[in-house]
Amino acid sequence: MRTSLVVGNWKMNGSRAANRALLESMRKEMEAGVVAEVAVCPPFVYLADMESLLQGSVINWGAQNLSHHEMGAYTGEIAPSMLADLGCRFVIIGHSERRTLYGETDSLVAEKAIAAQKVDIIPIICVGETLQEREQNITEQVVERQLNAVLQLAGVNALKKAVIAYEPIWAIGTGRTATPEQAQEVHAFIRGHVAVQNSGIAEELLVLYGGSVKGSNAAQLLAMPDIDGGLIGGASLNAKEFLTICQAAV
Ligand code: 13P
Repeated sequence: MRTSLVVGNWKMNGSRAANRALLESMRKEMEAGVVAEVAVCPPFVYLADMESLLQGSVINWGAQNLSHHEMGAYTGEIAPSMLADLGCRFVIIGHSERRTLYGETDSLVAEKAIAAQKVDIIPIICVGETLQEREQNITEQVVERQLNAVLQLAGVNALKKAVIAYEPIWAIGTGRTATPEQAQEVHAFIRGHVAVQNSGIAEELLVLYGGSVKGSNAAQLLAMPDIDGGLIGGASLNAKEFLTICQAAV
């Protein structure tokens, strides 16, 4: 049995005051009982605040990116060990915004995923196609290529302690979500592709869906057999919306 996971990707949003207010109201509601595993991923500069803001809470935290280098002369970068030092349980890797706006390639994404695992942080590896790729009917090829970069670098065992997030780019921040059936189809493809190499790892692998998930559509998406949770952007900045999603994941 896979447990559900809901992760809030705050992207480049927030302030100390806003984060405190958001987490306080989330905590209050969560104490009333949310069983899914939950994490928030604030910008780097706020990670150090998470330990005190989330002390005694069931909410974990993670980062939105990391360097694939261990440490050294890489101005502006953040080392995996630094994230471990700040108590990060997760790190989002290869988000489409990083791939398209900052030129992250499949192989760099794979290196980052392995760098996270070396310091016991669980990488949430994002995959997904553009609208054009979906219309060309090459969604599966694109997702397969993105997955294969990790499989080729580190083998299927790399997915033992990893999470995959399927985020169709055309559904991110657009209000246009994939239908539960469209998402399920790709999630099943991802699990099947991993199962060819190791069915046990595929069965345990959490595959999250991301792209315009909100309180009103979460239950239908999360009811699909291969959708194990969500990677939530905009709606994770609103405590009520985010909680509704977390509750739908149980
Ligand atoms: P939205 O939920 O705002 O569409 O963003 C999804 C996303 O990119 C999460 O990583």
